[in-house]
Amino acid sequence: MAGPVLDISDVAYRWRGQAGFSLTVPHLSVAKGESVLLLGESGSGKSTLLSLICGTILPDQGKVTIAGTEITSLSGGARDKFRAEQIGVIFQQFNLLPFASVRDNILLPLRFAPIRRNRVADAATEAEKLCSALGLPDHAVEAKATALSVGQQQRVAVARALIGQPPLIIADEPTSALDANSQAAFLDLLFAQITAHETSLLMVSHDPRLGERFDRVIQIEDIAQIERAAT
Ligand code: ADP
Ligand code: MG
Repeated sequence: MAGPVLDISDVAYRWRGQAGFSLTVPHLSVAKGESVLLLGESGSGKSTLLSLICGTILPDQGKVTIAGTEITSLSGGARDKFRAEQIGVIFQQFNLLPFASVRDNILLPLRFAPIRRNRVADAATEAEKLCSALGLPDHAVEAKATALSVGQQQRVAVARALIGQPPLIIADEPTSALDANSQAAFLDLLFAQITAHETSLLMVSHDPRLGERFDRVIQIEDIAQIERAAT
């Protein structure tokens, strides 16, 4: 695919209600295989921007285009399906199903994404391969997600985002719960995976020390206009 994996143009969004927070993003683009770190203080709208990219909230104006499809033009159901196919999401709290096995957690997105499922010859084997590539012990696939340490749960969240090779990985402060050593190990594993498959990565953090590994580092204030209602 020739064009960017992610392209945002003239997007504006305002949270309704008391907060009165608004975000305007004239342009942001991420190329195929590119890794971008988006930095900003807490409350600067980073997670809001990621929700706009994932299409879980819709902009008041402007366009969000993923892999050539303008997601703002899709119906709700079509957008959910499109997101499952195109975007692997790693949430700040991981959002694992607590009582499901690690294997079932990793395989979950394939249920909603037939294109990703078709890239995987044998789903259970693929889940095991990802686990071992991400440094999880062999027996971990059988464990309940809640039986794992935080660092291990985070690796499961990464495996779930990567399975079936979606072109774009979105990660919202995935290292915030880890100490410096675990952070470095986690990023090594994530980058090994995205490099192997030319996957694009947009990661959000408030920690500028992560920057050196990324192709590009941007500050949210440099790409977005942020307004908070006076209180
Ligand atoms: P960050 O991820 O950079 O910490 P967020 O995007 O989560 O920032 O939040 C930015 C601002 O947007 C918050 O301070 C709040 O005012 C507003 N906001 C975020 N989420 C919601 C929501 N679900 N409902 C209403 N306002 C929200
Ligand atoms: Mg946030």
